Amino acid sequence: MKEVILVKNGELALKGLNRSTFEDILVKNMKRRLIHSVGKFTFTKSQSTIIVEPNEEDLDFEKAVEVISKVFGIAGFSRAALAEKDLEDIKNVALSYLGDDLRSVKTFKVNAKRSDKKFPLTSPELCREVGAHLLRNIPSLKVDVHNPDIIVTVEVRDKHVFIHGNQIKGAGGMPVGSAGRVALLVSGGIDSPVAGWMMAKRGLQLTAIHFAAPPYTSKRAEMKVRDLVSIVSKYSGRVNFAVVNFTEIQETIREKCPEELFTIIMRRLMMKIAVRLAERDGCGALVTGESLGQVASQTLGALACTNAVSTIPVFRPLIGMDKDEIITISRKIGAFETSVLPYEDCCTVFTPKHPRTRPTLELIEKAEGAVDWDEMIERAIAETKYEAVD
Ligand code: ATP
Ligand code: MG
Repeated sequence: MKEVILVKNGELALKGLNRSTFEDILVKNMKRRLIHSVGKFTFTKSQSTIIVEPNEEDLDFEKAVEVISKVFGIAGFSRAALAEKDLEDIKNVALSYLGDDLRSVKTFKVNAKRSDKKFPLTSPELCREVGAHLLRNIPSLKVDVHNPDIIVTVEVRDKHVFIHGNQIKGAGGMPVGSAGRVALLVSGGIDSPVAGWMMAKRGLQLTAIHFAAPPYTSKRAEMKVRDLVSIVSKYSGRVNFAVVNFTEIQETIREKCPEELFTIIMRRLMMKIAVRLAERDGCGALVTGESLGQVASQTLGALACTNAVSTIPVFRPLIGMDKDEIITISRKIGAFETSVLPYEDCCTVFTPKHPRTRPTLELIEKAEGAVDWDEMIERAIAETKYEAVD
């Protein structure tokens, strides 16, 4: 039996004139993700549905469903079986395709849609015929038109008839690439991958910037961050991943700046470099995994001080979330297990014993003024390593 995926695009439906551009981006994204991990598919737009059809019979359809479930811009989708435009075939396919599902529930109803008005049966007639056939063959089943466990949908279209059960919830959001590009500051923690996922969901492509401090931080710690970026890329598509060597700057901070300001000065220098790399890669904003009050560097005052060095907007999608809410998303996107692996981060290597929670910009600028950072910043930028991760 031939199966296809019927994709319903979510917020896209609201976008009026832009809709077809958005749809084109969505199709391109699905195509790329599927070719990357499953194989070739054909995409046909038809009203508010995109029909996704495997080009060869032995493609891994389960895997294709998993891939599609992670593509942003899809409100919901259905796995559907194809039937001939013939009542007997429709009845048989409905029973064989959905029989197992229907046997495991109590109630159902049939919903028929007919875009081909030449089909000899009306929608109510089709519902009655298919419903009666299913009831005859599955004695435990009852009809419930108000709140059925499964809605069996029969869609009679131009060339084929599609038969499917309940719709599966899609990843939602907007197609990645429909809203531009941002630079995610990514660490090995729980928060930043979630922040990246959230912004990709709003249609943004990602560049990920990581600061490493070898030999204080290990190659394995860097690989863990790369793994996290790769997990996010299952949703966001290809991520441009940049690793900055931050050692010289961190050692200089440790030597030349007051200990209580280590973290905040480090974060400001990270932001400065990130803005430069972001602009090079066409990013319109920075994204961090900061959440208000979570640690000393994330108080209102500290955030104001780090913000002050950025010349582009800084998005902090987790700012109002509790840790357990962030963890729920982290688990959902499959990042949590990797995030909690115990590797060192450059932030934690140089943590002061008593960080200042209420630093003033004046104090910080004075402390930073003792060092000429520009050359070090240029060196770090020049030596940054890039890799495309997907
Ligand atoms: P996370 O769980 O994302 O590591 P966190 O709660 O540990 O966050 P911090 O370590 O204070 O918080 O970092 C706050 C944010 O700063 C991170 O979410 C990330 O966006 C950025 N950041 C921290 N360390 C790095 C790093 N080594 N490279 C790039 N960005 C970093
Ligand atoms: Mg961290």
